[in-house]
Amino acid sequence: MTRLIFLGPPGAGKGTQAQELAKTHAIPHISTGDILRVAVSQKTDLGLKAGAYMDAGDLVPDALIMEMVRDRLLQADTLSGWLLDGFPRTVAQATFLSRLLQEINQSCDSVINFDVPDEMLVERLLARGRKDDNEDVIRNRLEVYRRQTAPLIDFYQSQQLLVTVDGSQSIEEVAAQLTNAIQ
Ligand code: ADP
Repeated sequence: MTRLIFLGPPGAGKGTQAQELAKTHAIPHISTGDILRVAVSQKTDLGLKAGAYMDAGDLVPDALIMEMVRDRLLQADTLSGWLLDGFPRTVAQATFLSRLLQEINQSCDSVINFDVPDEMLVERLLARGRKDDNEDVIRNRLEVYRRQTAPLIDFYQSQQLLVTVDGSQSIEEVAAQLTNAIQ
């Protein structure tokens, strides 16, 4: 049983590693960014509300994200474990998640903190070229990360759940660090 949270700035490589690890551990990869992008493309209620925040590189309001994650974690496939990628991103979301897990009698094994220098993040995101990957929006996403998400490093450190990996290394090297981290 594996239950993990991937924490880190945009462009840190969370999604790439999450995809592989979810496959090898046979657990669902729950990426809030992916769920939101599907909602936007399908023009669902959630998508219509979230799109403008995402385009600006701002966080989608907590209430919408919380409802979305609650629905997802109550689905049956999560009984085999899960990998949360891109959630939580605020202290309010992290507190919500702790309560939700308590309610459903689950606990998180580890929080993996992907550490990557800013210059490298900007470079990687510009190379990726998603709709929200232009330079101004990237700067805003990094700023939002520092202000709203980075405090979760201390939050999870104080619960002794945090493991930091050096995300500036190659995909293979980061994967190897991850394998060690979750033994
Ligand atoms: P990245 O980590 O590469 O910036 P994501 O795919 O994780 O991209 O997220 C894309 C966008 O979706 C974010 O910039 C934000 O607007 C929104 N989003 C994703 N997850 C959350 C979350 N947990 N809380 C608020 N907004 C979120």
